Amino acid sequence: MAEWTAEEQAKVVAILSGKWIGSKDRKYYHILEKFELVELSGLRKVRRKKGGKIMATVESFATIVKDIHDALDHKCEKKTHLKVQETYNNIPMVVVKKIITNCIRCAEKSKKKSCRVVVVRPIVVSGTSGPH
Ligand SMILES: [Zn+2]
Repeated sequence: MAEWTAEEQAKVVAILSGKWIGSKDRKYYHILEKFELVELSGLRKVRRKKGGKIMATVESFATIVKDIHDALDHKCEKKTHLKVQETYNNIPMVVVKKIITNCIRCAEKSKKKSCRVVVVRPIVVSGTSGPH
């Protein structure tokens, strides 16, 4: 299936709620077979029947990952992605990585950490300054 954009999701919602007026092709039946409508905090979402996880629109990836990452108190990529996967079906690791790379709080944390790392100083060689 193509990327799960807001536009794509709108089509799927129309199909699942019986409001679809387009053609009933293979994709139509595929959607009916694989997905169902649910309400999540008052919003209509599409859930994959297998696994019961929510389909996130591409446009909402960043917000979802940021919220979960904040709620986890800025845990690493792997833990954030695992938590994302508990609820959402289709948010890839690359998105999680990108959000965390751009996270200001995490950048501050790793700055503090790097202060403890051995600082490479320029080598001062003594006794090589010859006579003028
Ligand atoms: Zn962070």
